[in-house]
Amino acid sequence: ESKKEKNKYTIFEDSVKDIYIKKLLMEYELKSSLKNNEMYMMYQPQIDINGNLYGVEALVRWENKNLGFVSPDKFIEIAEATGFMKKLGDFIINTSLKEICEIQKLCNKKFQLSINISVKQFIEKDFNTELLNMIKKSGFDIKNVTLEITENVCIEDIDYIINLLKEFKQHSIKISLDDFGTGYSSLSLLKKLPIDELKIDKSFVDDILVNSSSKKMIENIISIGKNLDLVILAEGIEELEQKNLLESYGTTLFQGYYYSKPLKKDELLKFINKK
Ligand code: C2E
Ligand code: CA
Ligand code: CA
Ligand code: CA
Repeated sequence: ESKKEKNKYTIFEDSVKDIYIKKLLMEYELKSSLKNNEMYMMYQPQIDINGNLYGVEALVRWENKNLGFVSPDKFIEIAEATGFMKKLGDFIINTSLKEICEIQKLCNKKFQLSINISVKQFIEKDFNTELLNMIKKSGFDIKNVTLEITENVCIEDIDYIINLLKEFKQHSIKISLDDFGTGYSSLSLLKKLPIDELKIDKSFVDDILVNSSSKKMIENIISIGKNLDLVILAEGIEELEQKNLLESYGTTLFQGYYYSKPLKKDELLKFINKK
């Protein structure tokens, strides 16, 4: 074995070990994150065709003393794998209902609150009654609640999921399908699931101006969504040209840095009052 190869091997071993230790530390710190008030919510505005506020998407944030800011993409996965998602999910639902309720009172406006629901929360026993109770307790208007689910709910019993969604719809809760087209989904899924809104993933929006096959695909997805009477919301809008193109295909709701980054509660209130 040459010296060069040995070095390469050592570097590889270290980085795997580092990742492993970081993950263990994350698991460990996650357990006490709620108790230590390290979690909080941010809200990203969703804008309609006339430039008015339609709603906000609630996005969770974690800042830990040893780890700094950890991306939700990372810690949600760990929360799901370690059985922590129920607790974290309850925090996310309760906090965003409470904070957006307060903001709506302060600015005297109603708008939609969109909450990301992990499949682990969704299939939890009694999720339906618990969610309805949390909404009732908060005083937030149930008609303004949207649940964002992803196509991976369909690795679970699809009939169970469909019944749950139907029950929510009976209570005037809206259902949005997030990240569509990035997973295992099929078009037949779109027809089967009782959803109201289709969220065009940022990864498609990202290269819509430069990649003609992305552009064609998005155009087709939007037209299928519209044929199924779904409202089309595009996320990750960073440039006006992206919005214009997506609007010409039939998108009516827009979210992204072009309008606003996710905002803390007080910043959101300022954003609304400036509009
Ligand atoms: P997502 O649900 O697809 O959320 C959209 C992500 O894109 C958010 O990242 C948002 O900050 C980011 N984003 C929106 N517009 C733009 C843009 O114009 N440019 C760029 N560069 N980024 C944009 P974030 O907050 O880091 O969340 C990442 C993912 O973590 C989310 O993807 C979602 O899957 C998960 N997540 C975040 N908060 C929650 C939560 O409260 N519950 C659950 N279950 N998952 C969450
Ligand atoms: Ca989402
Ligand atoms: Ca998404
Ligand atoms: Ca995502």
